[in-house]
Amino acid sequence: MRTDLKALDRAGLEAFAQSLGQPAFRGRQLFQWLYGKGATDFAAMTNLPQAFREQLAEVATIPTLDEVQRQTATDETIKSLFRLASGREIESVLIPDFDESGTAKRLTVCVSSQVGCAMGCHFCATGLMGFHQNLMASEIYEQVWRMNALAEERFGRGITNVVYMGMGEPLQNYASVLQSAALLSDSDALGLAPKRITISTVGLARRIRQLADDNAPFNLAISLHAPTDPQRSAIMPVNRSEKTDLGALQDAVQHYHTQTGKRVTYEYCMFAGINDSEADARNLATVARWAPSKVNLIMYNPVEGTDFTSTSEDRLNAFIRVLVDEGIRVTVRRSRGQDIDAACGQLAGRD
Ligand code: SF4
Repeated sequence: MRTDLKALDRAGLEAFAQSLGQPAFRGRQLFQWLYGKGATDFAAMTNLPQAFREQLAEVATIPTLDEVQRQTATDETIKSLFRLASGREIESVLIPDFDESGTAKRLTVCVSSQVGCAMGCHFCATGLMGFHQNLMASEIYEQVWRMNALAEERFGRGITNVVYMGMGEPLQNYASVLQSAALLSDSDALGLAPKRITISTVGLARRIRQLADDNAPFNLAISLHAPTDPQRSAIMPVNRSEKTDLGALQDAVQHYHTQTGKRVTYEYCMFAGINDSEADARNLATVARWAPSKVNLIMYNPVEGTDFTSTSEDRLNAFIRVLVDEGIRVTVRRSRGQDIDAACGQLAGRD
């Protein structure tokens, strides 16, 4: 059986090179080829001795994602469907933000961390699929690498930000997600600043504490979507356990801030008649004051098979007014890529 080089980290690649009679630095060179240059075959690795390259071709493999579909929305958001080595498929989205001159000033990649998701949020297409598989760190990394190449080709510059907000609950795949984020910020790989990387979670309190204790230098976003336990439990089953309800989340967020000094972002999808009243806004303000934070309001994109609809502009504006009066930092995220089902909560694989 040949060795999957993408399953090895830098130390693993060094040990592998040594097991083939090479010095450890050949492993570091392999790391640079795989993650800094995106090499997909050994022949391209020109600073390795010819005999070593031939040996590698016999004993090792470099699995790559197979892009099986690509769609572009009218707002130029691009969604790619990738097939994994397992044969299962995941989606990644490239979201450009343009300045007045039409130049892409910000290019965000939204990556998947699992195939499907076990969290079962009632408004989410991925949740409707159930859980199928965790992704390896290299599979998460490669989504960004491929979208970065696409960004350079389409928009003339590389990506600027990565958000773990695609398919899956990132903190349920903790080790691979952290390893992939470390790869993204490795200067021998993409070299993205950690502050450009945001890990999102439905609110797994124990894992949020672990992120703080592990000193993870990345941003944290929490998919809140409802400001009280009864409301949240009704639409997000994860909230029904006392280990992950709002009380547990509050403790975890406060621990996170104490340990890291960092602010968290609350993602809040606006659902008509469910979480968009002025009383909800006041309750949300209470949550937002647990620790320094920012609230991101998201205009919901209806998902087939669910009963949720987006709030109206009037209710959105009234909601924002309450939050601003309460002194909360708030931004509104408009739907992107809606016409290709690339928006929040819409990722579910092939039609
Ligand atoms: S919203 Fe996120 S955590 Fe909830 S089911 Fe969808 S992918 Fe999973």
